[in-house]
This record gives sequence, structure tokens and C-alpha cells, in this order.
Amino acid sequence: MLVSAKDMLQKAYEGKYAVGQFNINNLEWTKAILLTAQENNSPVILGVSEGAAKYMSGYKTVVGMVTAMLEDLNITVPVALHLDHGSYQGALDAMEAGFSSIMFDGSHYPIEENIAKTTEMVKLTAEKGISLEAEVGSIGGEEDGVVGKGEIADTEECKQVAELGVTILAAGIGNIHGKYPENWQGLAFDALEDINNATGDTPLVLHGGTGIPGDMIARAISLGVAKINVNTELQLEFQEATRKYIEAGKDLEGKGFDPRKLLAPGFEAIKAGVKEKMELFGSVNKA
Ligand SMILES: [Zn+2]
Repeated sequence: MLVSAKDMLQKAYEGKYAVGQFNINNLEWTKAILLTAQENNSPVILGVSEGAAKYMSGYKTVVGMVTAMLEDLNITVPVALHLDHGSYQGALDAMEAGFSSIMFDGSHYPIEENIAKTTEMVKLTAEKGISLEAEVGSIGGEEDGVVGKGEIADTEECKQVAELGVTILAAGIGNIHGKYPENWQGLAFDALEDINNATGDTPLVLHGGTGIPGDMIARAISLGVAKINVNTELQLEFQEATRKYIEAGKDLEGKGFDPRKLLAPGFEAIKAGVKEKMELFGSVNKA
């Protein structure tokens, strides 16, 4: 059964580790992440962007696939199905379809409007007993065509939004989506510390987890980050493994063209990548 991300993230926040959010794109992705979570006795959050949900046919298909997979694969670790960077309408639709966790990203609205819409979302998610992630200060890079600039969130705005009663808060601290550029300045730890102090016991979320060095991850966790989003990194690992298989001509040998064989190296690469992140984030054996 899918669960709200609230308990797993509150435990992580108190225990000074983080739960990974790994974005899914299809059945192979989902299966690889769920099996790895179970093998490592780790809680896990499956992230689904609106674009990925559309790609997989829609929110209902995603909920149906994931819930059935939990049963068929005997997954017993806590699993939350989370809408990533949801719009107002997307959040309503995903909730209706059965997602157990929602991110409403109102960071592109003026703060008053972000607060008004997030307030509504707090009420709606509380009625359903599901978790809610809000965002303050746009996170840079590109997510489903929404481009931001690696901002540092305003501490007072973070405080205001956390006090609405959101489960978790994503705040820009110089992190960006996708690959980090050569001249990246690193995470703004002073800002993170201020935000953590201002937001009480609300766990914080670090978006754009791809390629952030391990020591920065550890420091971010020590300063209140309890959820780390990983998306691009798994895509790159899947791509590399698939490329190697084809470049080695394995798709031309025997039944190497069989999609179950063709996608197997990428599947294993995702599993290895997720395991590595779970170890780095400290969520192994925390289910
Ligand atoms: Zn993000």
C-alpha cells in the first residue's frame, strides 16, 4: 500500500539521514527502484513529473502500475508516490487518482499567491491524509520546460510557507536541476542553515541531486535536508548502459533485440545507481 511521505521524512529529519526521491518514467524504472528499496530495506519516494505521468498515459495508469507492483513484488518497505513540481490542476488530478504525496510548486507565483494556493493544498491533502511539499524560491535548471535560475530562497518567505502546515519544504539554495555547470558555486549552506532555523521542524528538500558531491550532501543533511531528489543521474546511467550494449553489437547477437534483453543493462544500471544513493543518503535499513 502506498503511504504518505510524512512519517518517513519526519524520521529521517530527526535521524539525520535523507530519503531519496527517484523519478520514474516507465515500468522498468519503477521496478528497478522498488526492488532496490526492498533489497536495502530503505523507505523510498517515487517521483512523477506531470510530463512523465502524461508519457505513461496519465495519473491513473501510474497509480495502477505502482500499487499492483507493490503487491506482485512483495514490497514491504514504505513507498510514497509523489507528484513532482505539480501545477495547481496537476495536484488536484494526481490526488484524485490516488497519489500518496503531492508537490505543489507555486514558486513561480508572487509569494502572496503561492501562499494562498499552498494554503488550499494544505487543506486538501490533510483531508486525504497525504503529504504535501511546497516550494519557495525557484530552483534553477529545467524541469518539464520550466526554467529557473538557481535562486536562494528568502528565509522569511520559507518561514511563512512552512507555518502553513506543509509536510516538507523545497527551498532554492543554489541547487539546480540537470547537470551542474563547470562554474557552479556549490550549495549555499549559510542560507540553508538560516532557512532550517526559521522553519522549525519542517524537513527540507534538496532538488537537483544529480552530481552534488558527497560531502555537500552530508552537510545538507546535517542542516535539515531529509529528502533528496534524483532524476537526471539515473537517466544518464540508463543511457550509458544501453549505449554500451548496442555499441558492443549485442542487440545483433541471437535474441539480443528482445526488449527484455535490450533494456536489461539499463535496468541494472538504475538499480546500482539507486543503491549508491541510498547508501550516500543513509536510508539503508531505515524502513
Ligand atoms: Zn525539482
